[in-house]
Amino acid sequence: EDEKRLQLIQAHDLAAKLFHYLLLETEHGKEPYRYLLDRGVSKEVIETFQIGFSPPSWDFLKKFLIKRGYSEELLEEAGLLIRNENGSFDRFRNRIMFPIFDAKGRVIAFGGRVMDDSLPKYLNSPETIIFNKSKTIYNLHLAAKEIRKKRQAILFEGYIDTISTWKAGIHNGIATLGTALTEQHANILRRYADEIIISYDSDTAGQQATYKAIELLQPLGFQLKIVQMPQGFDPDDYIRTYGPNSFKEDILTTTITPTAFKLNFIRKEYQLNEESGRLKYIAKALEVIADLPRAIEREHYLRGLADEFKLSIDSLKNDLNQFIYEKR
Ligand code: ATP
Ligand code: MN
Ligand code: MN
Ligand code: MN
Repeated sequence: EDEKRLQLIQAHDLAAKLFHYLLLETEHGKEPYRYLLDRGVSKEVIETFQIGFSPPSWDFLKKFLIKRGYSEELLEEAGLLIRNENGSFDRFRNRIMFPIFDAKGRVIAFGGRVMDDSLPKYLNSPETIIFNKSKTIYNLHLAAKEIRKKRQAILFEGYIDTISTWKAGIHNGIATLGTALTEQHANILRRYADEIIISYDSDTAGQQATYKAIELLQPLGFQLKIVQMPQGFDPDDYIRTYGPNSFKEDILTTTITPTAFKLNFIRKEYQLNEESGRLKYIAKALEVIADLPRAIEREHYLRGLADEFKLSIDSLKNDLNQFIYEKR
């Protein structure tokens, strides 16, 4: 079993080297290389993240690895080949290849991106004996040092966000791999960090994922900060539009608390221009505030509600205590 894991890792290592070589040194790589440069991914960053290219062929990788002694069965188990009625063929074709490393820096999987609008945009390796998505954190092998030093990690949604921000000098950035953040991810992070800055996309999917991440991370004792970006941007878009300094100086320094995030998030569900909508929102907001462990924090957000809706803080406190009472 251990022997098999080692073989799977070696096959991935060779595949990553081949893809990287094809990107940088061959005719195949011209178009994807251009694509990456156009997206602001420099040669240096391509090297750091060992980015590569899988050619538009059904068996380029297959032939390469079989020549080196790997069996078809093993390569299927590795997720590098797919089998159908007619035999096996390369899973990754005509894609920009992002190797996914384990904490020791060994390649255990790939994420592959198309260069146009075809679907799926990203194709990831399947789960294998060496790749467990709910335990794997993208870029942890490079970022661990800085995360430990700062006791802080910045959590992104995508490979490209992690890579763009790395280029901008942010070296404690990580991402989950197209899957939701799990308790297992969180427990791994707990060893390195006390604080997490959640920097997901500002679209609906990203904001919903932020809400879920807060609910998961807060009970585990992390201090959380939530990034706010203009609607429709992700960190990579933001950096390309406003520059890396603006991301560092305007975005990372103006994070909001998880409670402020939740209040902003739930208020979108209510018609605040209607009296009944306002009352419903206030009741819901009190539920969120009731979860806060400290009286001064509760007071802080109650004051915000009182000011906004011209209510006395005493009546808000009365209702709040009702929620706290019901929770016990
Ligand atoms: P890009 O800027 O290249 O479009 P992105 O990171 O902004 O990439 P998103 O659509 O925001 O892409 O997706 C975030 C992450 O979710 C990706 O980095 C990838 O890991 C994962 N993902 C996106 N689409 C898919 C998909 N179809 N299958 C699997 N994972 C996906
Ligand atoms: Mn997204
Ligand atoms: Mn995105
Ligand atoms: Mn993006």
